[in-house]
Amino acid sequence: MIIDAMEFARAGQVLEGTAVASTFVRLCEGLPQPQDAQVSWRLAGRCDAGTGQLWLDVQAQGRVRVVCQRCIEPFGLDLQVDNTLGLVRNTAELEAMEALETAADDAGPEYLVAERHLDVLALIEDELILVLPYAPRHAVCPEPSDEPSPSRQSKPSPFAVLEQLRKH
Ligand SMILES: [Zn+2]
Repeated sequence: MIIDAMEFARAGQVLEGTAVASTFVRLCEGLPQPQDAQVSWRLAGRCDAGTGQLWLDVQAQGRVRVVCQRCIEPFGLDLQVDNTLGLVRNTAELEAMEALETAADDAGPEYLVAERHLDVLALIEDELILVLPYAPRHAVCPEPSDEPSPSRQSKPSPFAVLEQLRKH
């Protein structure tokens, strides 16, 4: 399924469908078999009337089987994509937009170089890969474990940072 990204967005077109998770080969690489759940997806284009900026709204949801990194048991994990991509004409524009985002220091929209032959399912797959956790875990593992409860914090808490500062 190939679209011209700019044309698609300008015309406000919408595409949607479902696919078996195993269709997304890159997504399922390294994940346990079978991957037989349905993934539903929707791609909608729109054009900002004021600025003329073109956008793609990407949505997808479905379940993949993953291996819990704590108990090594497979389980079904729901993935949910709800993202908006701003279209730019080329990589120079993309870099300019990303530089602006970095300067603004907040999570603004993401940008995508508009391809004349954009593979819709490959785009959906890219977005699914982005929301797939690197180390998936059960919220609660089925068997008791001696390990301490999982810390979902990747960053140290501000209090821990303060503690560190006091020591120096
Ligand atoms: Zn587990």
